[in-house]
Amino acid sequence: MIRLSCFLALLLSTSSCGNDTTSEKTPPIVIVDTGTDTQPLIDMGDDTIAPADMKGDTSTPDMNEEIGEIIYEQKGLVITNGQSSLFDFDVPEDTQSVSIMISGKESQFYVLSSWKNGDRTDLVPEGWARSSPVGPSLCLSCPNRVSGTEAVSVGYAPNNQDVEVKKGTHTASVFGYIQNGFQLGILQSGQVDIIVLAHRYVETPFARLALNFHFTGANGLTAESAKTNVDFQTEVDKLKDIYSQAKIEIDQVSYIDIDSSYQIVENIIAPDSDLQKMFKLGVASAPKGVNVFFVDELLLQGPGGGFGILLGVSGGIPGPIVSGTARSGVAIAMKSNPGLPSTPGFVMAHEIGHHLGLFHTSEQAQGGSPRVHDQISDTPEGDPSLLMYFAGQGRTLSANQIKVMRNNPRLRY
Ligand SMILES: [Zn+2]
Repeated sequence: MIRLSCFLALLLSTSSCGNDTTSEKTPPIVIVDTGTDTQPLIDMGDDTIAPADMKGDTSTPDMNEEIGEIIYEQKGLVITNGQSSLFDFDVPEDTQSVSIMISGKESQFYVLSSWKNGDRTDLVPEGWARSSPVGPSLCLSCPNRVSGTEAVSVGYAPNNQDVEVKKGTHTASVFGYIQNGFQLGILQSGQVDIIVLAHRYVETPFARLALNFHFTGANGLTAESAKTNVDFQTEVDKLKDIYSQAKIEIDQVSYIDIDSSYQIVENIIAPDSDLQKMFKLGVASAPKGVNVFFVDELLLQGPGGGFGILLGVSGGIPGPIVSGTARSGVAIAMKSNPGLPSTPGFVMAHEIGHHLGLFHTSEQAQGGSPRVHDQISDTPEGDPSLLMYFAGQGRTLSANQIKVMRNNPRLRY
């Protein structure tokens, strides 16, 4: 086990989307979401190993096959002493983005440990995960940033204006790690499945995004009542309005009831968390869209009890390219928090932004550690008017952020 206390401090800064108005006060800290790292940063509790059948289900790919093409698949890529062997895939001409999905077991964390572009330059430099000052959950030195997540992790390029995916042979590998309490360890032995998706370039003025809304009964809403609930539809309209600036049209919304036991998600950071179980429910019912789950509360348990309130969480940055995995969704807390500027419409827009590949423009300042900003050149640092600022109710998306979102294979044309 590696003990990384400075790592934790910085990780918290990249994870906890604290609200500026309350972060300096005593707990409970109000947190907008967990941004780059929804994985257990704080306390894993016991070191339960998930059973084999909890492996992410990649058997039902649901991406739009018109523009997305699976260019590589490998089952059972072996990880030994934290590292997999290299794998190669050929990226065709006219490819707009490439997504590499790594699926394994809950309680294990994965991230790309290397990725060479078609011109053999580094998108992700080899060896970064073992030397990163903030640990393997976020690659600050990568020309194309990647973040580690539990169970399912996606490397996605380009996610900033300085990167272009080049045709030709790409080479990548996977780093595996585990987390127990405040300690990180190398994954000694494991296996993951790899799917690589190439998204073709499409010239189009509008992109379309389908959403699948899942209702737990939170806030009294069901699939049937939400369709006509004025307050709820007002929030959906806020989301549509924010995405209209990116020329992303929310063109299909499915309304689906799920079990009411998920109304309160008691711990989003346990290895067998009910958040991950809930995300798996977005299987066949929800083709092509991003799965959005409405709950009453998302509780963040810390070592001494409650650590704070989460308003929303995304399964990854970006989320998996298929539905039905432990990371395939965003969750939105519907319980009202008087005094907070954010409402569910803003939180939805922000979390779906993560799911489509956007990092926070600026993370919360954390005592002593340098403040982390995104790699996007046209998002001013520390600007709370931006949708992807770590907290608040900003709505603005920059031109370069819009490109990242619109390259995501979840979008249709
Ligand atoms: Zn966030």
